[in-house]
Amino acid sequence: MQQFPIFLNLSGFPCAVVGGGEVASRKVSALLKAGAELTVIAPKLSPELAELADQKQFTYRQSPWAAELIKDMRLVVAATDDNAINQQIYHYCETHKILVNAVDQPDICRYTTPSIVNRSPLIIAISSAGMSPVLARRIRAMLETMLPQNLSAIAEYAGGLRDKIKKAFNSIGERRQFWEKFFTSAIMTRYDSLTEHQKEQLVDDMITGQQAQGEVWLVGAGPGDPELLTLKAVQKMQMADVIVHDRLVSSQILDLARKDAEFICVGKQKNKHLKQQTEINQLLVEQAASGKKVCRLKGGDPFIFGRGGEELETLVEQQIPFEVVPAVTAAAGCASYAGIPLTHRDYARKVVFVTGQNSKAGEQPDWQALVRPYQTLVIYMGLARAALIEDELIKHGMSPDTPVAIIENGTTAEQKVFCCKLNQLADFEQHKKGSPTLLIIGEVVKLHPKLNWYQSSHNQTTNAFVNYLQNER
Ligand code: SAH
Repeated sequence: MQQFPIFLNLSGFPCAVVGGGEVASRKVSALLKAGAELTVIAPKLSPELAELADQKQFTYRQSPWAAELIKDMRLVVAATDDNAINQQIYHYCETHKILVNAVDQPDICRYTTPSIVNRSPLIIAISSAGMSPVLARRIRAMLETMLPQNLSAIAEYAGGLRDKIKKAFNSIGERRQFWEKFFTSAIMTRYDSLTEHQKEQLVDDMITGQQAQGEVWLVGAGPGDPELLTLKAVQKMQMADVIVHDRLVSSQILDLARKDAEFICVGKQKNKHLKQQTEINQLLVEQAASGKKVCRLKGGDPFIFGRGGEELETLVEQQIPFEVVPAVTAAAGCASYAGIPLTHRDYARKVVFVTGQNSKAGEQPDWQALVRPYQTLVIYMGLARAALIEDELIKHGMSPDTPVAIIENGTTAEQKVFCCKLNQLADFEQHKKGSPTLLIIGEVVKLHPKLNWYQSSHNQTTNAFVNYLQNER
């Protein structure tokens, strides 16, 4: 370890920044945030600093640096643009036992300032001992995305409970056990949606040793590319005890979940249901009822052809708390990664999402409503009915020349886009089954050859129809 990390309490600790430019300004604002008793020494101040000086946020000494001005300081930042001056300040501070930092000059620093993730009172500091500040900043960015914003509030709340917990438990071991429970409880996971009274109740239950209530998070995993997951989805995956996931959720996405969580695949595949919907609903209830935090992970968005609503209704009946985390739905993901804007001023002012699977046998969609000018049609689970779709749309007046995109494994490295005319769609019905496939039907598909930016490892010339589309435009 090249450096020893400490957190410094700056109250009543005289600090000085030497310099009045932009670099000094950054240091001034960081020191003020930490409550420093601050003096700024510089012949001239940037407008930003001048404003702070006017507000008496610090004491301003309008002067070049001088030993006299810093002799009573305990911490000094040399932030002038003159290296020789920074050197002098450093040497002076070293001989007079003052903590000193020269900005961006690690060789003349007694201390360095880390990159921080601020969820005050919780602060994470990252240092590379000046070796690679960029690496430290990248790690900081990673942590920023992983840690919920409300950690500040939770840490404060926990701080406020310390006395109560001390009184409730005599031994340090018991207290530690309580806090272990606390930080994996619903207070941590649902802090923002709980009332003060509910929080208090949960704390009291934990003190008396009553079993904590489980909960379910219905989380959208997006269409495939793990980078399309929301921050919230990743956070929930990291906090879950159990991950109940569909077959469509890839292993790359599951890799982002808490490593020691239990994984249960309840994947559904046409005609090959691993579990019936009612069994899934029941499973969620059972897991949550045993006090676990359950992340129900579904492909795309949970509220779009995901039967998410049904799962939640069962939870409501059983009074199990839940949350829903939305996600990029297949239509949005596939359209973007295939370069097909779903709406366009010239081609489509409306977009309709429909499913090719009817919920009840013999039920038919309102075909007439699907055949409208300036409308893009997105069909989920439609490939198995390609022939019927082609037939009915043409019968209801859609031009047989209407361009169609067939997007397989959209947004993943295996993405393939096939284009055809509506009257060729039936030919795809026997196409490889088993991969999720989305149909986009409408004039906007013409933009695909021009806007197709995403090069998947399976990228291929879609087919001869692309030439037709290209000539059309
Ligand atoms: N809730 C999901 C849809 C579930 S229905 C969502 O919002 O996306 C499953 C259907 O979605 C698949 O049959 C397919 O039509 C479509 N789909 C999901 N992911 C897809 C992908 N990566 N590529 C193409 N189609 C996809």
